[in-house]
Amino acid sequence: MIAVLKKKATEPQKQHLIEWFEMKGLKVHVSEGEFNTVLGIIGDTTELDTDMIGLLDIVESVKRISEPYKSANRQFHPEDTSIKVQNAVIGDGSLTIMAGPCSVESEEQIMTIAKAVKAAGATMLRGGTFKPRTSPYAFQGMRAEGIRLLKQAGDSVGLPIVTEIMNADHLEYFEDVDIIQVGARNMQNFELLKALGKVNKPILIKRGMASTIKELLMSAEYVMAGGNEQVILCERGIRTFETATRNTFDLSAVPVLKKLTHLPIIVDPSHATGKHDLVPPMSLAGVACGADGLMIEVHNQPEKALSDGPQSLRPEEFEALMAKVIKVKEAIS
Ligand code: PEP
Ligand code: MN
Repeated sequence: MIAVLKKKATEPQKQHLIEWFEMKGLKVHVSEGEFNTVLGIIGDTTELDTDMIGLLDIVESVKRISEPYKSANRQFHPEDTSIKVQNAVIGDGSLTIMAGPCSVESEEQIMTIAKAVKAAGATMLRGGTFKPRTSPYAFQGMRAEGIRLLKQAGDSVGLPIVTEIMNADHLEYFEDVDIIQVGARNMQNFELLKALGKVNKPILIKRGMASTIKELLMSAEYVMAGGNEQVILCERGIRTFETATRNTFDLSAVPVLKKLTHLPIIVDPSHATGKHDLVPPMSLAGVACGADGLMIEVHNQPEKALSDGPQSLRPEEFEALMAKVIKVKEAIS
């Protein structure tokens, strides 16, 4: 349920009403906008009398929210959420560029790529360390040592780092990670999402390959319900009957999500297409349709990459793409 308060409502009056909801065992999310204060009331509100609340002197309107996602709902929080990571901000109207290899493979590899993506304009360094691979015989990632190398490379070029977690038991290794990624394969690992709800770091949730937009929002809700409201969503393609691309890039998810939620949304054209030559045009399309950022795989030697080489851009291709990305962003701003 949401209650929009009148402009004239004083702080003590607001507090009084919030405490009244809390006394009934409900959680209240307060969103102070430019024109109004919106109270998002979460919990079992069936006993509440909306007519009675609507008659209160300080209440402008009351509405029940029918969607099952509450904290992630834009109606609860009309303004865009922006998330600060070191000196980068995601969701403030600027463009976040997360770039780096699919997997951290060695100190030299991650250092080389970190320098290249930073020079080309990336704002965050990505690199998989605990890798979710289809085959148990494929490279599984450098794990904790990979995080150490990623952090070292990020620090040396001045970029925050993002890497994927697969198991809440590994959280102890993620202390130095700036954004924790939940991959497509774990989007509905609810125990993991619950554990991340207790972490004080932004969580980047990638859309599951067979998940609906609503299910993605419910996964965000899991993290937010645990108390961690720093959630970023990522469209990375879904599985359809089409085989020309690795996945089908559902770009309409971006404007749809922008309507439904206040959370920042980035897109990942690398996993969405699976082909390096399709990454530049689809990156531009992602920016054009309003994404808050891009996640792009970059490798200095794609032909030798231990994972996802075919979809990785070479540093010079990434640099050329960045110049175009800036132009598209300017054109729509
Ligand atoms: C990744 O970002 O390296 C990754 C495994 O992505 P996804 O979960 O989208 O497949
Ligand atoms: Mn990858």
